[in-house]
Amino acid sequence: MKLQSHKMTVSIDEHSSHLEPFKVFFKQLDDEGVTIEKLPRQRIEDYQLKAINSTLAHIWNRNEYYRSQLVAAGFTEPKIESLEHLTSIPLLKKAVIRGDKQKILCVDHKEIGQVHLTSGTSGVPTYTSYTLADQYIYDLLPKYLELFKESEVDVAAIALPYEFALPGLGFQRLFQFAFGMAVLSLGKGGYMAPVDKSLELMKEYQATVLATTPSYAALLAEESERAGIKIGEDIRLKKILLTGEGCSATFRERLEKWWGCEVSFFYGSTECGGVAVECSEHNGYHVMEGHVKVEIIDPVTEERLPNGRTGEIIVTTLLREGMPMVRYRSGDIGNIQKSNCACGITMDLLHLRGRMENMLHLGGEDYSPFMIEHFLMEIPDVGMWYHFKLNQGVFKIEAEPFRTELSDEQLAAKIRKHMSDRIGIDCEVEIRHDIPRTFGKATRVFI
Ligand SMILES: [Zn+2]
Repeated sequence: MKLQSHKMTVSIDEHSSHLEPFKVFFKQLDDEGVTIEKLPRQRIEDYQLKAINSTLAHIWNRNEYYRSQLVAAGFTEPKIESLEHLTSIPLLKKAVIRGDKQKILCVDHKEIGQVHLTSGTSGVPTYTSYTLADQYIYDLLPKYLELFKESEVDVAAIALPYEFALPGLGFQRLFQFAFGMAVLSLGKGGYMAPVDKSLELMKEYQATVLATTPSYAALLAEESERAGIKIGEDIRLKKILLTGEGCSATFRERLEKWWGCEVSFFYGSTECGGVAVECSEHNGYHVMEGHVKVEIIDPVTEERLPNGRTGEIIVTTLLREGMPMVRYRSGDIGNIQKSNCACGITMDLLHLRGRMENMLHLGGEDYSPFMIEHFLMEIPDVGMWYHFKLNQGVFKIEAEPFRTELSDEQLAAKIRKHMSDRIGIDCEVEIRHDIPRTFGKATRVFI
């Protein structure tokens, strides 16, 4: 790859950094005609240990905060002997980097190529700085050709935010530079991107792939009827990649029916980039182990949890020079398992349960909102827009009717009975006809 711009060259051959050995590693995989996806575990883990030690040396040499944390934890050199020893490295908390542009920056300012910000639901964003090499070389080194079957004949519609956050530009780079695809940068409801115009563009250019959020995929489908565009005829997608919000398998199945194509989840964040993606078996998300090492911890004791136990997802980036994330507390909940997936991919499987702050505490148990959504979506008379509200121990579902003969009262009774039968949850139900659609991240849980 060689990219020329007016002032500089970003070339895989000419750029050098602490990540140099990994260009050789991935080149070797290319030469062998394989990707990291199906390597024997030992080979994946050997690579990961080397990449983590390179990252530790980089942050030790280039960042005061990281170094002081390692020294305080008893490190005399930036090195671990095995992946098990990752637990001796201090965790990186969101509160430490929130609002601070420098704290974990590991390059000079002039080397920054792109800054991304989180949406800052708390009000204060987290800033992530990428060098050009991060974006155009290292991010693209590991290939996942089993997980992504796209090629230059495909046209991708990206309906994700391009402003500030990573998703829009992240998918843009992936589709263009990794697969040579044409990209329609729809964005998500910005003033240049009204929904009808986005659908029109997908129709005109025969988009085959759509990357968006679950709620926006539902919104586009709903609006297509209003815009007179027929899904399955005017727009024929092969695949939808969902990211940003997470949702239940039943919500996904509804989208698959609606759009008439496979729908897969992609899990990532503005801080850490791509973390995991579903294969066509839909048994969970394969961790993108060329890019990240994922661990699960107990969010209270901070102890690492064994495979299968649900806790907070911790991410360490393996191929970053600008701002590596080392044992970053994502605030997301899930568990990991060794892969025994029929697809043959050996990369670990991640099961995502949602954001920590959105867990619903009902009757002494913590429920993932995805799980409750799953049971709600089992009722075909319920639409795809809803709210879960928990107020002083009272759980209320606000739902919309969907192509049903039932009266609002009958539908409310049906939902109450279904939730009680299926998961033993007593809830209040209000049928609404006006749940607001959103261009941003859909907020469905109110605690
Ligand atoms: Zn699989």
